[in-house]
This record gives sequence, C-alpha cells and structure tokens, in this order.
Amino acid sequence: VDRNPGENEFHQALYEVLETLSPVLEKQPEYAKNKIIERLCEPERQIIFRVPWEDDNGEIQINRGYRIGFNSALGPYKGGLRFHPSVKIGTMKFLAFEQTFKNALTGLPIGSGKGGSDFDPKGKSDNEVMRFCQSFMTALYRHLGENTDVPAGDIGVGSREIGYLFGQYKRITQRYESGVITGKSPQWGGTWIRHKATGYGAVFFCEEMVRAVHNEELKDKVAVVSGSGNVATYAMEKLRVIGAKVIACSDSSGVIIDRNGIDVDTVIHIKEVERARIKTYLDFHHDAEYIDGGNIWDIPCDIALPCATQNELQQADAITLAKNGCIAVCEGANMPSTPDAIKVFQQKGIAFGPGKAANAGGVASSALEMQHNATHGSGFEYSEERLHEIMNHIHRDCCDTAEEFGEPHNYVLGANIAGFRRVANAMLAFGII
Ligand code: NDP
Repeated sequence: VDRNPGENEFHQALYEVLETLSPVLEKQPEYAKNKIIERLCEPERQIIFRVPWEDDNGEIQINRGYRIGFNSALGPYKGGLRFHPSVKIGTMKFLAFEQTFKNALTGLPIGSGKGGSDFDPKGKSDNEVMRFCQSFMTALYRHLGENTDVPAGDIGVGSREIGYLFGQYKRITQRYESGVITGKSPQWGGTWIRHKATGYGAVFFCEEMVRAVHNEELKDKVAVVSGSGNVATYAMEKLRVIGAKVIACSDSSGVIIDRNGIDVDTVIHIKEVERARIKTYLDFHHDAEYIDGGNIWDIPCDIALPCATQNELQQADAITLAKNGCIAVCEGANMPSTPDAIKVFQQKGIAFGPGKAANAGGVASSALEMQHNATHGSGFEYSEERLHEIMNHIHRDCCDTAEEFGEPHNYVLGANIAGFRRVANAMLAFGII
C-alpha cells in the first residue's frame, strides 16, 4: 500500500489473488524462495504521457495516456486500451495485473498489459475522436510492436477507435504491421468473431459452470446483464440463442427492463449507430420500462452477468440476488464484484465465475488474430467452435485446480492458482529478471 499510494483498485486486485495463493506457495516453496510473488506484483514497465488534441471549437484539450507492460514471461504485453474519464494509474495497474492471470489461463503465448486514457469519447464528434487517437498513438507507437506490446479495445475503445489508432501507427512507422493491434475489422486483418468473443465466451463459461455446479442448463433461465456495450451486447445475443431470456440491461444512467426479452439488434443500433443512451430503447419497444438511476441487481433473475465495469456489484446487491433465487453470477467485466459480494456468493452456494477466467474469450481470440497476422495470410476463419473449445478448456482448468487444492467449485481459487503456476514456472525458468 505504501509503495502504490491511492491505487485502491490495484490493491483490491492484488489482495483478491494473493489471498488464494498460500496453498500453492506451501506446496511449491521454490516460488517464495525466488520472490516470484514480489516480482509478479511489480509491473515490468509503466509509461505515462501527455495527449494534447484540438476540439471542434479550436480549443486545445490535454489528456493523460498510460500503457502498462505488466508481465512478459509468456509472450508480448497484451491487453486493451480503455478511454474513460475514471481512468487513473491504479485502474490501469489493476487491469494489467488481472490480465496476467487471464492471459496465462488461455494457454496462448501472450504476456499482460493494459493502457488507456482519461479521455471521454461520449459526446465527441468522429473528428475529435480521430484527432485524439492520432495524438495518443503519436506518443505511444515507439513502445509497441507485434512482438513487444499489442493493444486492443476495452471500455470506450471499439472498432472506430481501433481503426484510427492503427491508421496513425501505420502512417508514422511506414509499416503495415497488422499484428500490432487486435480487434481490427475483418476487412483489414481482423476476425469477425473478435468483437463478439468476450460476451460469447462468458456465456460458454457460464453454461459449463452451471452444469458443473448445479447440474442445470441455461435454457429457459431468466438472466440480467449489466451494461450495454460490447461485452454485454454479445453476451445477451448468445444467451438468447441458447434459449435463456434476458430481461434487463443497463448503462451508467439507468436500467431497461423488457419482459419480452431484450432485443439485441435494437441495443446494437442504439450503441453502434446512434451512439445514444440505452433509454432510447423505449422509442423502439413501447412495452419496455426504463428506471432512471435504477439498480439492475434488484431485478429477480436466475443468472446475473455483470458486464459493465469494476465494483458495480456490491455486498448488498449480492444479498438481494441470493434472496431472489439467483443461482449463478458470471463476470463479463473485469472485477465487477467486490470482495464482500464474492463472499456472499460463496456462502450462499451461488456459482461464481471470476472475470479473469470467464471473460478470457476476447483476449484468446486476439491471440489467434496475432497468429494469423504473423502468417501474412488472408481470409482468416476463426470459428466460434474454437472459442467454445478454449472456454471449455479454461473452465476445466479452473475446476481441476480447485479440486486439486480441496475446494471444488471455487473458481476464484482455481483461476488464480492455474494462471499463477503457468506464469510463475516461466519466470523461474528465466532466472532473476
Ligand atoms: P463498452 O465501452 O463497450 O461498454 C461499457 C458499458 O459499461 C457501457 O454500457 C457503459 O455505460 C457501462 N459502464 C462503463 N463504465 C461505467 C461506470 N463507471 N458505471 C456504470 N456503467 C458503466 O466496454 P466493454 O463492453 O468493452 O467492456 C465492459 C467490461 O468488460 C469492462 O470491465 C472491460 O474491462 C471488460 N472486458 C472487455 C473486453 C472486450 O473484449 N471488450 C475483454 C475482457 C473484459 P455508459 O455508456 O453509460 O458509460
């Protein structure tokens, strides 16, 4: 805490992982002897830079940019960029730390990183977003490379922003280095499934978890999904396809309830075409209800998928979910549940899938995009079946590890230890670096 003052989210993420690692440290003393934990908690590099840009009124605006290279034991730094006014150094470090375990769980050759800015894309024109992205990349490009550091999207960074960022990288470096960024359009080096992969993957994970813990199927279950961005939208789409009924979603202003089932095409239109608030859903579906400032976790459901942001689901929400008969919570977002909410799930027998396992489908498909880009091939066909296999494998890995350490169905412990061992073993092999 003294070493990283004020970085509350980073402390929280560290605490949540370290709390579960003592059994593996006792079993394999070489980790402690070689100070693997101390090294794992210290980012390899942290880059902070000024991002000046001009708005449409000719005013100069200044934002702050970040890129954390957290751990490269398993491959180049890999993790998204977040553009949101709440972004601080502690946010970046918590996300990059989480990414270390998540990326290790995929079994693919990727290290961990994260970056972003306190820039708020909401209400900005396309030209303003473009000028910001160009300035951001002008500062960052020298630190990136397909074998060094490979960003992607996150909150506030979708296909529009990825296009502007890649365009500027290409322009400055004079290199068409496709593998330097993922989440690209399928028309220029990306894969059609990347933008759906996190949401779809979280549902695949949830499906396996509900089978393993409760011996039940998601079909006919009532679900609520917080957020209405990239992860939430495609989680809702996949839930609908497998026969669950999603009755509510949200944004930071309020909650939409549609008892007929949320219409995902309308959400995509509002978010990606109109770039409007979720409240606009009412213009298309007059039977739906909007609760301004509402709390989505108050709505009775069988399955809850937090897919918006960190610490959005707190202890009181967990108690309400349990009281309303919820049987599973699966995190599409990063660290959306607070530690005391997770304790409630564990006490009440609610199956709980932590984000670092459940939302790993996005980064896994990014790693496959990188592999494809490295071959300079075209017509990349990365199938949904492959994503499904990867998510089932992650689920199995977490389950087996939890059992090995005598805590069946403790996915928090399973994900943390399974991810840790993979990174720690590589670090041991490399000596003191
Ligand atoms: P988007 O920007 O597409 O959507 C974010 C959604 O969350 C919006 O509905 C937004 O509402 C809401 N939200 C954001 N911040 C807050 C806040 N402070 N309070 C309440 N609601 C908020 O982001 P993504 O869907 O890409 O990301 C969502 C989560 O998933 C994040 O935790 C991210 O780190 C995680 N994730 C994303 C991956 C990806 O592939 N995109 C991969 C793995 C994890 P509003 O518009 O009102 O801000």
